[in-house]
Amino acid sequence: ELSQRMAERSVDVIKFLMKEGQMMKPGDIIDADLAELIASEFGHTVKRVSESDVELGIFNVADEGGELVSRPPVVTIMGHVDHGKTSLLDAIRDANVVSGEAGGITQHIGAYQVEKNGKLITFIDTPGHAAFTAMRARGAQATDIAILVVAADDSVMPQTVESINHAKAAGVPIIVAINKIDKPSADPQKVRTGLLQHEVFVESMGGEVLDVEVSAIKHTNLDKLLDAILLQAELLDLKANPTRTAEGVVVEAKLDRGRGSVATVLVQTGTLRPGDILVAGDQWGRVRALVNDRGEQVKEAGPAFPVEILGIQGTPQAGDRFAVVENEGRAREIAEYRQRLARDKAAARQSGTRGSLEQMMTQLQDTGSQEFPLLIKGDVQGSIEAIAGAIDKLGTDEVRARIIHSGAGGITESDISLAEASGAAIIGFNVRANKQARDAAERDGVEIRYYNIIYDLVDDVKAAMSGMLSPER
Ligand code: GDP
Repeated sequence: ELSQRMAERSVDVIKFLMKEGQMMKPGDIIDADLAELIASEFGHTVKRVSESDVELGIFNVADEGGELVSRPPVVTIMGHVDHGKTSLLDAIRDANVVSGEAGGITQHIGAYQVEKNGKLITFIDTPGHAAFTAMRARGAQATDIAILVVAADDSVMPQTVESINHAKAAGVPIIVAINKIDKPSADPQKVRTGLLQHEVFVESMGGEVLDVEVSAIKHTNLDKLLDAILLQAELLDLKANPTRTAEGVVVEAKLDRGRGSVATVLVQTGTLRPGDILVAGDQWGRVRALVNDRGEQVKEAGPAFPVEILGIQGTPQAGDRFAVVENEGRAREIAEYRQRLARDKAAARQSGTRGSLEQMMTQLQDTGSQEFPLLIKGDVQGSIEAIAGAIDKLGTDEVRARIIHSGAGGITESDISLAEASGAAIIGFNVRANKQARDAAERDGVEIRYYNIIYDLVDDVKAAMSGMLSPER
């Protein structure tokens, strides 16, 4: 298929592959990187339309040719524990579910939509940055806007800071919801000034971040919050092409005793319909039925529309991408290819080929990157600041370390997922990783380095960075 599209003889492509040590026959599946290599070898300019397109060999450019229309924003709620994330999600849903038949019972399918001024907003129903970043680590950016919930009686707390850094690392704009303003001890101004230190500048502080004072319990100003989301969405000018075959991301998936495998997906482009055949991660299936967030069967799901799919053979994972393909044989082939790939990766990890700090730097250099992402955890804030300052000084015009997150306390699973999603290494200063974090780091191939002397740490980073400098200097 690739040779056909390049207008080359397939035997020439096979010959080239043989020279590269790859024994293949026509019809074998190749991955995106190899396809790109072959295409450029034959003098073609490669443009990746989307990861799945290249891998599937569909080369669907309909997104450019087709009609792009506005789509609803997809919103995730983040913030410190007990600041009211769940309460806010519930309050917004209760007050604003898309008006349908009276008595439509809301189902928790992992995402829901509300309507405001005739416009739709999609909320991801799992609060917190952990789920958000776990998805991102799997290559899926589902969220357009992050709502940062900060309780007005508690102000900025460690997980508030984590949430800010997770959102920033993903390049997702933040809207601040200052919650619990019904409480007598509420001090919204303290929240705004607290956020300044973490470079979140709300409008009244001369910045551009929208903030809204709300009470999830009393349902105060929920309208204003939705307005702020719609305003932010307008600025983002979110568009998608509903006329092409569907692609998107798995938000949640489970095995239901009565219904079999049930996956909630968010369509990101195109329109999904019953009868479509799709691949989701390393699973595939034919869509038997689509069910919306009120438990109703629907005939189609367009961009940013959350919907449950019945009919997938196995259970994909949250964060897996899905794409509709032309037939069952194709779907099965791709799913099997991916299962093979996953097994190979697991085997490679087993054999202990984990990268060192130096190897990571070299890899970054290969990709032409000049920023080295680091995540720093330390025992006290003072030492973290000293480390950050020292590392910052090591930066040159060519290469510098970028600290994507730092904080006091042990290394947690959430740190691992942020590091994985951002390709960062983790530095622990006088702190250790807990068991879950160690397991996750092992599984995801994230490097953790422990230090208890700042000098050693700085020396290592310096050595690693000099390996990244261009050879001609
Ligand atoms: P989460 O951990 O961030 O999801 O927080 P929850 O939604 O579970 O809320 C934590 C606690 O704060 C619960 O006891 C809620 O009832 C309470 N809470 C949430 N929002 C408000 C609010 O606007 N006002 C008041 N007074 N309490 C709230």
